[in-house]
Amino acid sequence: VLAEVNQHLQRKIAEVEALQVQLRQQATQDALTGLANRRQLNEALPAQLALALREQRPLALAILDLDHFKQVNDTHGHPVGDQVLIRMAQGLLGALRASDSLFRWGGEEFLLLAPGMDEVGMAHLGEKLRSAVAHMDWRDLLGTHSVTASFGIALMPVHGCRAGDLLLTADTALYQAKTAGRNRVVMAPAGRSIST
Ligand code: GH3
Ligand code: MG
Ligand code: MG
Repeated sequence: VLAEVNQHLQRKIAEVEALQVQLRQQATQDALTGLANRRQLNEALPAQLALALREQRPLALAILDLDHFKQVNDTHGHPVGDQVLIRMAQGLLGALRASDSLFRWGGEEFLLLAPGMDEVGMAHLGEKLRSAVAHMDWRDLLGTHSVTASFGIALMPVHGCRAGDLLLTADTALYQAKTAGRNRVVMAPAGRSIST
């Protein structure tokens, strides 16, 4: 009887442990795309900034927002919009290095952290991603409708070393990319850097 009770307990412990792993994942992972979520970014960003500072290397932060995504939902339906977001996440991941991290920042907004990327490298990567998005094949989901994204980029240390400053700077650059016509990459001007 004791052996049986023991076995039962072991099973229960394993169940609870599996549940803990699942809960931790749900708390930090976006359910739709499987990407890390905003909560995880709130932990990862300060940590990555501290590491970059200690190792004296740059870090690039990009926020990208899909263009006219409401139209995709309105025309093709919300479930198709969801599929677009899932495929977009995979497409973006495919164009990144293992050391980069991609987060679902909001509804149709993604955030990229690229350690070691300076101005020149990030301008190149931003353009590569913009082009990769614009050339993705949506025929099975959207017919002839294409999907584009606008990018706002901030750099550490050029635009500051604090998470809040970099997010604000990238968001402002993104807004400029939108008003300038969308489907483009805007890097915040170095002159407007926030002192650290
Ligand atoms: P803009 O180019 O200015 O960004 O236009 P937009 O239509 O993309 O911008 P807006 O912020 O007005 O709309 C974003 C849309 O994204 C609205 C919302 O329904 C959609 N969206 C957000 N999250 C999800 C999601 O999880 N699934 C789907 N299908 N749509 C989503
Ligand atoms: Mg948006
Ligand atoms: Mg949008």
